[in-house]
Amino acid sequence: MEALQAALVEIVGSDHVLCGEQEMAPYLTDWRGRYHGHALAVVRPATVEAVAAVVRICVQAGVAVVPQGGNTGLCGGATPLETGRSVVLCLGRMRQVRALDADNNTLCVEAGVTLAEVQMMAQAADRFFPLALASEGSCQIGGNLSTNAGGVQVLRYGNMRDLVLGLEVVLPDGRIWDGLRGLRKDNTGYDLKHLFVGAEGTLGIITAAVLKLFPPLRRRATAWLAVPDPAAAVAVLSRLRGGCGDRVSAFELVGRPALELVLEHIEGARDPMSGPQPWYVLVELSDTHEQAPLEALLEQTLEVAMEQGEVLDAAIATSLAQAEALWALRENISEAQRLEGISIKHDVAVPVSRIAEFLACAGERLRRAWPEVRIVAFGHIGDGNLHYNLSKPESSANEAFIARTAEVNAVVHDLVHALGGSISAEHGLGQLKREEIRRYKSEVELDLMRSIKQALDPAGLMNPGKVL
Ligand code: FAD
Repeated sequence: MEALQAALVEIVGSDHVLCGEQEMAPYLTDWRGRYHGHALAVVRPATVEAVAAVVRICVQAGVAVVPQGGNTGLCGGATPLETGRSVVLCLGRMRQVRALDADNNTLCVEAGVTLAEVQMMAQAADRFFPLALASEGSCQIGGNLSTNAGGVQVLRYGNMRDLVLGLEVVLPDGRIWDGLRGLRKDNTGYDLKHLFVGAEGTLGIITAAVLKLFPPLRRRATAWLAVPDPAAAVAVLSRLRGGCGDRVSAFELVGRPALELVLEHIEGARDPMSGPQPWYVLVELSDTHEQAPLEALLEQTLEVAMEQGEVLDAAIATSLAQAEALWALRENISEAQRLEGISIKHDVAVPVSRIAEFLACAGERLRRAWPEVRIVAFGHIGDGNLHYNLSKPESSANEAFIARTAEVNAVVHDLVHALGGSISAEHGLGQLKREEIRRYKSEVELDLMRSIKQALDPAGLMNPGKVL
């Protein structure tokens, strides 16, 4: 162990090899505080050559490598296992901007640059980078790519996989693959970059990426709608897309229990409607043209939707402050739910056309088995992605509530699967869903995944115990 630490110090310097229990502690626990791991060292290289050298040293010593970005992942993917010999490799010092090509609409950055910094760099170049997450101040581009992050604008721009053109990766044997091409067309064989996107660090370490940029959005219109049920929300989405096309950039469903938690726990939160309504939608239209008549378009479409009974009430923001207040209601749901107490969370996706069926069936099945359960459903309904969470009933003790996790997961995930959905829409598998996924992926699909892992990482040292 001492020899390994000395070799790591030789590569990155003693300031960047942490071995003490206290200094390593923040790197050994996940954001939710659910997983606690063990590591021989935390190492923080600043260049791709140093990352490659660290990987080679670890391979020689038979030590596993756990890549870590901003450590905001929600499935324990960046936390080393409790047992086994591993080194946590943090990318936070890889912060160079390699190239900004405004005409090509691309930005090449290293993995440790945060998402918020990328958004700001794009803005400074009169461009726009659309990935947006509540964790954007801390999460890093390497982590966003490795989890194929989603967020609130996938509806229009796609998820992280759709926003990348090229990658640089340190492979599990320590070689560097330079795939930093900024091309929108390149049909020269297998598209290797997509293997590493969403792989959660199990196939290699992403050290840099060429990201796509878009024209800046100069006008936005934001509204909070009350709808009678999720089917009506889906109908409004179709109507808005028909009338406004690609200008629909966000469409978020919020159930009344989710709003109630925000109103109760978040200071300054205010219900935009005069009385309670069963379901809400936060909708945003945006355009690159300053004079685009977004409010008029929104009003016209909503008028028809109201006549059809799809929308019960609507509050359209008339200022930036009002739009921000509406967004805060949506963005604070997770925090409000945390303040309320423990919960069982599901990040699931079904085809948009089956959202209403999913919500009705899941609610019915869960309430039959557990009448007092509190369902807090919200999410990116425009992508068919729901955060289907259960808050602890007031009458239950914490342990009794958590003890029902497997039973509840089976109800929710079996239904998602039956509807042609996914048990992890945007957060990945990590440690959290590694076992669960085996119930739903076919043997053929799992076999293909194992073959890819075996081909790239035969020694199994790249983030072991995650995904597979
Ligand atoms: P980490 O947590 O450090 O790592 C995540 C995984 O990627 C791990 O398996 C790790 O080993 C691997 N990894 C990290 N960096 C690299 C690298 N350079 N090379 C190879 N593997 C690597 N996610 C969404 O998709 N949508 C949301 O709306 C969303 N909202 C969130 C809100 C909050 C408040 C929080 C805390 C999280 C949210 N997340 C969301 C989850 C999380 O922010 C994303 O998964 C994010 O992309 C993780 O980035 P990170 O840098 O923190 O990665």
